[in-house]
Amino acid sequence: MLSVAEAQHIVLQHAQPLPAEETPLTSAALGLALAEDIVSDLDMPPYDKALMDGYALRSADLPDGHGVLTVIEEITAGRTPQQPIGPGQAARIMTGAPLPIGADAVVMVERTRMEAEKLVAVEDKPPKPGQNILCRGREMRRGEAILTAGAVLRPQEFGLLATVGRTAVMVHPAPRVAVLTTGDEVVEVGEVPGPGQIRNSNGPMLSTQIARAGGVARYLGIARDRPDSLRTHIMEGLRSPVLVLSGGVSAGKLDLVPGVLQDLGVTAHFHKVEMKPGKPVFFGTHDKALVFGLPGNPVSSMACFELFVRPALRRLMGHADPGPIWLHATLAEDFAYRTDRPTYHPARLATTDRGWEVRPVPWFGSSDLRGLTQANAFVLFPVGDHQHKAGQLFPVLTMES
Ligand code: AMP
Ligand code: MG
Repeated sequence: MLSVAEAQHIVLQHAQPLPAEETPLTSAALGLALAEDIVSDLDMPPYDKALMDGYALRSADLPDGHGVLTVIEEITAGRTPQQPIGPGQAARIMTGAPLPIGADAVVMVERTRMEAEKLVAVEDKPPKPGQNILCRGREMRRGEAILTAGAVLRPQEFGLLATVGRTAVMVHPAPRVAVLTTGDEVVEVGEVPGPGQIRNSNGPMLSTQIARAGGVARYLGIARDRPDSLRTHIMEGLRSPVLVLSGGVSAGKLDLVPGVLQDLGVTAHFHKVEMKPGKPVFFGTHDKALVFGLPGNPVSSMACFELFVRPALRRLMGHADPGPIWLHATLAEDFAYRTDRPTYHPARLATTDRGWEVRPVPWFGSSDLRGLTQANAFVLFPVGDHQHKAGQLFPVLTMES
């Protein structure tokens, strides 16, 4: 059977960044990746700029740091200096304001005092040329590439793009993901389940996992465990670049999803992965569309989404690092565990003064959603019958970043 790492590799081989589109830089673009290099349209700062409130002066006038200078003007942010600084002169200057010609240093206002109107006494160390000044173009030069394709748009990128006047950019768009629930026993959330029925908890869970991963979910409803019902719904789902199915991929008599997918021309790349929960997971492609068949048990569904679907969505979005995000954490308490497949156990990850710590949450198996509400991660336990000890390190799959 395929390992999780091998299965992830296969998924990522088939996931290519979606064709670039132009998007306005509204918050809907947060988390998207650039599909173009961004070039600055100006020097930043646009002039030699004071980094402190104080006095712009000529360092040569104060060889030992002390002296009295004539204040010839006051330069606030947004104003341009009117006169050059001559020998024995200074200008009062505010943070961010342009430096006057002739000045080569700024002395902090705290190191000065007014002697008389227009006379300032400086009592400081000898000023160094360039002190408290940011030279024009030091951060970036006009024509310089300041962001490259693949950069993910976070608030600081929005700030930088605003600095260079961009209101729209080319990005890889958020993937549209069709969500199809299957199962004769599944009813919509607003209904009261009859005998043998359960509510569709996977639909809302998958839709919000998709949103959290940066995708746009499109819910297609519930297909019944009959070839005709599955076929109609799946054909609709294959119009999206990604189709996520819930249920119908195990070995039961009515697990018809893989067969119907193949009838509809979906190429199967794997069906079963060495993991618990989630072993029956299916992955295939239809032209460029990615098709995931996740097991119906809610915890299996959630784990398989984080391990396989989320990295695929990030790759479609052009992220260089598709994840998932693993870290190593020490076990908070002794934990005896026996399993015959590598197991992704719901867990609570926390930072402590000893670093990352992980605590498995009480869990009654792959249908136990209640246990999942206590969890923010999965801790990976190895095959075998083990008495895991507090303080041992384990890989942890984080979900909430
Ligand atoms: P399946 O993968 O279709 O064999 O389903 C496995 C288990 O998950 C069964 O007990 C189903 O009742 C349950 N299940 C299937 N689909 C859903 C769903 N949409 N929401 C909650 N549980 C489900
Ligand atoms: Mg089913």
